[in-house]
Amino acid sequence: MTREEICRALAERLQACDLCPNNCGVDRSQGQIGACGVGDSPAVYQNFMHYGEERVIIPAFVINLCGCGLACPTCPERLRFGQKRLPTGSPDAYAAALCNYFEHRQMPKTVEWIGGEPTAQIKFVLETSWCLKERLPEGPLIYLNTNGYFDIALLDMMAGAIDGFVFDLKCMPACTSIVGGNHDYFDVVTRVISRAASLYPEHIIIRHLVMPGHVSCCTAPVLEWCISHVPGASLNVMTGFQDFERGTALPEADRASALALVHRLGRSHDMIDGMPF
Ligand code: SF4
Repeated sequence: MTREEICRALAERLQACDLCPNNCGVDRSQGQIGACGVGDSPAVYQNFMHYGEERVIIPAFVINLCGCGLACPTCPERLRFGQKRLPTGSPDAYAAALCNYFEHRQMPKTVEWIGGEPTAQIKFVLETSWCLKERLPEGPLIYLNTNGYFDIALLDMMAGAIDGFVFDLKCMPACTSIVGGNHDYFDVVTRVISRAASLYPEHIIIRHLVMPGHVSCCTAPVLEWCISHVPGASLNVMTGFQDFERGTALPEADRASALALVHRLGRSHDMIDGMPF
């Protein structure tokens, strides 16, 4: 597909939105809002140079987009992206502003689209990425940091705009309350990750946030799925869970069990909290 065809196809899909399995069917082009909470115009709530992401992608210029089709009960971002919008202008104007910033401050190793969930605004993401690549042909790689809960057909539209992925794989099918109860979560996300890994074998990172009480039911089988289905992907097991509303954090025993699993795998390209172990 040409860029024009991709833009046209995505604009049409927004008229009865089915970009993710929620299949809301709302007409976002007319201002209707689905489960993700975003309409037709670009909605960015934050962008900044991030030095705390995985070693292999920092410094990463992260662009936080509003909206997400999942409703994870402990997500700390949901409250933040409802509050603020940065003025971006058109994709080309935003790409120009980013290039200007990079040239005067620092060239990042990667630009990282993140959310919320960036695929809810995939047309803006792709158009801006294309513009960035035209302006900076030798510039940063562009990563999509995504929950993976989107229509797999979108992956085929990303060539030439997206260079790599940071996925989250949060839980197994029995524990979908972690992601707000979407029962197809594991099937959808693992299909998307498998397909992305076949298209981008060198540039896949899979994050797994260890959840309290979910090491044996989620962390262990998630890691097993990853090493058997996408062995080239780098795993980042994250132990920094905090539920700010309830004031809880990952218990030390869960952290120790999860770290033991990673050490037992013994793979040099995996990470703990973003750092090689
Ligand atoms: S992208 Fe948003 S509006 Fe579209 S189907 Fe998903 S949740 Fe619904």
